[in-house]
Amino acid sequence: MKAVQYVEPGAAPVVAEVPTPTPGPGQVLLKVTAAGVCHSDIAVMEMPAERLSFPLPLTLGHEGAGIVAEVGDGVQAVRVGDAVAVYGPWGCGLCAKCALGKENYCLRAGELGISPPGLGAPGAIAEYLLVDHERHLVPLGDLDPVETVPLTDAGLTPYHAIKRSLPKLVPGSTAVVIGAGGLGHVAIQLLRALTPARVVALDVSEEKLALAREVGAHEAVVSDADAAAAIRGLTGGLGAEVVLDFVGAAPTVLTAGAAVQVEGDVTIVGLGGGALPVGFGTLPFEATVTAPYWGSRAELIEVLDLARAGAVKVHVETYGIDEAPLAYKRLHEGKVRGRAVILPNG
Ligand code: NAD
Ligand code: ZN
Ligand code: ZN
Repeated sequence: MKAVQYVEPGAAPVVAEVPTPTPGPGQVLLKVTAAGVCHSDIAVMEMPAERLSFPLPLTLGHEGAGIVAEVGDGVQAVRVGDAVAVYGPWGCGLCAKCALGKENYCLRAGELGISPPGLGAPGAIAEYLLVDHERHLVPLGDLDPVETVPLTDAGLTPYHAIKRSLPKLVPGSTAVVIGAGGLGHVAIQLLRALTPARVVALDVSEEKLALAREVGAHEAVVSDADAAAAIRGLTGGLGAEVVLDFVGAAPTVLTAGAAVQVEGDVTIVGLGGGALPVGFGTLPFEATVTAPYWGSRAELIEVLDLARAGAVKVHVETYGIDEAPLAYKRLHEGKVRGRAVILPNG
């Protein structure tokens, strides 16, 4: 089968021919209908070889959806022909975090050598994807796989980040979204669907600011050294209750810290390498700073239910499998509007 692989440190991904996997006991083989392209893959491909925690070549893609093609012995909850989305942050299934569905925070994944598809295990940008356990599948029902597949990460990650701050997003509050890309444009819609907060989007690109407005941002502000002052201007000098940073670079985390209100939340989602110092007097009183990772299995079910209710719609650009390297190039250049989705069998 064809698979899009990261083969060599520093080199662009390539389309390769690899053996089609067979499901072992408890495993499920999917014929992939759609696979999303995330900026985290670019962060992984920019890491020096010694920081990679898995061997190459790696089949990319940690957002996957497909049709069950074959099931291993003991699989009971899904059948051949079912349309499903894949929960990506695989854990052990047994530890205290996994027992709560928080496999993104599995306590034993490292020790057991368990990694997500596309981030260690063979990923979804291939004709077939091997899923390690049926519990990592969520039925799609009538949802369109192409528009839904980004919700497994570009939806789930902001959903998890927003959910922990919901008590602060009361009427009259302000939420800031830094970076209106794949994750950010979904975050804006989630904030609008789940909260009465005023949403202020920041980006460096005029097209992304236009997309932010189109998907529901009340204000769209250029992300530069004056952005925090602009946010304070929009909030009567008080700052925002919640700042979600989907860039995470040194200048954006500084903006986040300078724009947050007393008792507000700064949530750094982007892998841009920035850090925000926390200490008495460095931030407004009792502001929190956190860097979450992905979301829980239950939260993915909730996000898909929200999509089913019509509350979120991902903007997608689609590509055939042979065009996947081009999709990565366009994402790297900041040209993708919404999410790039590969159709490996399309
Ligand atoms: P993307 O490329 O689709 O979107 C990034 C957006 O940020 C673009 O619109 C770009 O124009 C904008 N941007 C760039 N520099 C900016 C700046 N200085 N100020 C404001 N906006 C700026 O990327 P994505 O796939 O949405 O991923 C966003 C980030 O989240 C990446 O760093 C990715 O690695 C990370 N991520 C983290 C998790 C997690 O669990 N923590 C999960 C998924 C993705
Ligand atoms: Zn991702
Ligand atoms: Zn676990």
